[in-house]
Amino acid sequence: MTDVPGFPPNTQLLAALTRLGQATRMEAVRNAGPHNLSPLQADIISLFRRDATALRQSDIVTALASTAPTISDAVRVLRKKGLLDATADLSDARARLVRLTPAGHAEATRLNVYSESLVEAVDTLPEEELAAILRVGTKLMRELENRNLIPTSRMCPTCRFFVPNAHPSDDARPYHCNFVDAAFGDAEIRVTCPDHEVRG
Ligand code: SF4
Repeated sequence: MTDVPGFPPNTQLLAALTRLGQATRMEAVRNAGPHNLSPLQADIISLFRRDATALRQSDIVTALASTAPTISDAVRVLRKKGLLDATADLSDARARLVRLTPAGHAEATRLNVYSESLVEAVDTLPEEELAAILRVGTKLMRELENRNLIPTSRMCPTCRFFVPNAHPSDDARPYHCNFVDAAFGDAEIRVTCPDHEVRG
């Protein structure tokens, strides 16, 4: 099949990804919650939930591929809203550690649940299509990470416990996770795994 002139598939894929990003952004705006969180503020709260109990602001800048002034502003607002606390970092006199307050933990729990409408839309996909998207999606994410275009994710393909061709005769579960010692397939690939350790 030849490309339709002016609409090469690579740019159409990028347009589709942009639209999907807009959908999650719009849901984040609709899901501002009792503290009227902006999408960035919600991302910061979610980062604590997923990755750490305490973070330096520079860690947040890196994790969200943002800038120091933008994150500094958002952290200041979150502290004003009573969702974050800051304490001295004993290992670096110039740095401060920020962490969730009890109200921040409550927000993190609320944000832990994906929007029902987005989940419903994804659930319309048959499992084999979902698995294919996860496989191709992680491949593309890895390429973007290698080019420093997105922050590093805790996903299987970059994990030291991941063995890609451990079970070549098993089409459904060709991979192996040495952390839980189990075979798995594309449908079980994780992109945010708490047990992930970067491959050395
Ligand atoms: S520990 Fe997590 S990220 Fe690593 S291979 Fe196992 S499931 Fe994947």
